[in-house]
Amino acid sequence: MSPRWDAPAPEAGPASRPNAAGLTRAALGDLLVSLGEPAWRGRQLFSGLLRQRWTRWEAFSNLSKPLRARLEAEVDLHWPTIVQSQASADGSTKHLFGLADGHQIEGVHMPYEDRVTLCLSSQVGCAMGCTFCATGQMGILRNLSAAEIVGQVVAMLIHHGHPADRPINLVFMGMGEPLHNLDHLMTAFEVLTDPEGLAIPPRRITVSTSGLVSGIDRLASYPRRPRLALSLNATTDEHRSRIMPVNRVWNLEALAEALGRFPLQSGERITLEYVLLKGVTDSLEDGRRLAAYARRFPSKVNLIPFNAHEGSGFLPPDEARIRALCGLLADAGITVSVRRSRGQDVAGACGQLVRPKSPRMAPSGDED
Ligand code: SF4
Repeated sequence: MSPRWDAPAPEAGPASRPNAAGLTRAALGDLLVSLGEPAWRGRQLFSGLLRQRWTRWEAFSNLSKPLRARLEAEVDLHWPTIVQSQASADGSTKHLFGLADGHQIEGVHMPYEDRVTLCLSSQVGCAMGCTFCATGQMGILRNLSAAEIVGQVVAMLIHHGHPADRPINLVFMGMGEPLHNLDHLMTAFEVLTDPEGLAIPPRRITVSTSGLVSGIDRLASYPRRPRLALSLNATTDEHRSRIMPVNRVWNLEALAEALGRFPLQSGERITLEYVLLKGVTDSLEDGRRLAAYARRFPSKVNLIPFNAHEGSGFLPPDEARIRALCGLLADAGITVSVRRSRGQDVAGACGQLVRPKSPRMAPSGDED
């Protein structure tokens, strides 16, 4: 049987009217031309959507009244809406977004002194089935559209009153395998990085993959693209296949070869994320193998102590072991940091994003 992540993920149902949200500046120009307007008005629309963040056609004061009325009659302006927000004691906020078809996804707003980091979802559920991840247990429901990806950013910036000059980092580490939804992801990337919109620099956008080699190779073909992180999490095929079923198709060697041929810019490194599961992936021998793996291509390592969640069957590592692994990697010449996930008290940390009430799809492939 084919693994389920080799097949395209389901898409949202067809819309009866075009949705201006999530369109690139060029596509907005085309939309206006189809309405008999000049293409340059697409820039006004784009600026209104991304810079002013207007969410209703009547707010578009840079357009004539007749054009606003025409847009109201013929074109949707639908971003996902925040339906619930939970603030964590550490300053981060987990948001629940409602989508037009009733599904729900989650994103996390994490403010820091000099920037804000937004953790975004790329799919409703996820096909990858990683056993330590709450989202992975949902199965895949569908891909998010570009509007639903960009809309998480827009909705969080509006909700938190984000000042225009504060840098924004985006990490695709919420629900879903982003490289399983690469087409919509790259449209969203074009919108988010457009200098006439939010102008987020590509180096501030990171896509984290579970190891979908076909997706890594496709991403490599884009001249402008986000940075790449790999959720590695184990150093032997036996262990990785047990917690990340994708490893049964593309094992550690296949993955290292894909990362070795990934075209990096000067100074760019691939981030290796390594979740430490007590007694499973946190031995000193794991540390030595991790160092050897990280040396095979330009990389840096993020150690992520596991966030306990109900029913996972895994435990967080001891502090002494975290320190020992950090020291071991640093001594081996690897750039290493420990990432303390934020939002743990509201289940907004990595591997905890899940909508318990979402309908589940029956697994169609391997499942641990
Ligand atoms: S860790 Fe990421 S890729 Fe794996 S199941 Fe969870 S959301 Fe999907």
